[in-house]
Amino acid sequence: MTLFDPETDATAASAPIMHRRGLMLVISSPSGAGKTTIARKLLAADDQIALSVSATTRPRRPGETDGRDYHFVSQTDFDQMVEEHAFLEWAKVFGHSYGTPKAQIWSRLKEGRDILFDIDWQGTQQLHQRAEADVVPVFILPPSIDELRRRLQSRATDSADTIDARMDRARAEISHWHDYDYVVVNDDVERCYDEVRQIIAAERLRRARQTGLVPFVRALVGDTTHPRSS
Ligand code: 5GP
Repeated sequence: MTLFDPETDATAASAPIMHRRGLMLVISSPSGAGKTTIARKLLAADDQIALSVSATTRPRRPGETDGRDYHFVSQTDFDQMVEEHAFLEWAKVFGHSYGTPKAQIWSRLKEGRDILFDIDWQGTQQLHQRAEADVVPVFILPPSIDELRRRLQSRATDSADTIDARMDRARAEISHWHDYDYVVVNDDVERCYDEVRQIIAAERLRRARQTGLVPFVRALVGDTTHPRSS
């Protein structure tokens, strides 16, 4: 027995093409915990996810492209964007300004596209205050402090002082882990990536996000706001 006859019930016929509201996937971690690798893998594997490209006043690093990794702007331009309320959130991180441009975020979410934010704990708190229902905050932890130090040391030919300063920043970032709903330990990058994929899969199935199901369920039971007593 079929529940609906698509020939006669237009609502039912369109129900399987489910529209859902996109989610704001926030990934934070101390530098050296593998966040960038996880973010790149997600973006490459899933075309429903788009990256929110932040504006920053920090100088461009070798290998970075303006408009792809960041919008590199002057402090004056950044301050003007703050004044014009062009940011969804912004913060000072390690002496530089970083902000998430508002443009296109809401329209993308409405279209059912997910947006990935690589932002710190301050930005996560602000997003949470502005759009709690849409935000999925994930924190990535390194497997150990020794391993974090090893990863930070292997990155560049920095002095011991620079490494110590980075370790201090990493500890400061980690101390905000309790602001996050999900925490994943990155002791194996593939496993960590799989776990983040599972979080996304579950969050996409949240009832509140599956707005496209409302007409379908309404066609099944009539009023969708109250349970029926049987
Ligand atoms: P980096 O300069 O190494 O690319 O980033 C430094 C830190 O700034 C990272 O923790 C990164 O997540 C954070 N960050 C990057 N963009 C933004 C942003 O738009 N807002 C906030 N609050 N943090 C950001």
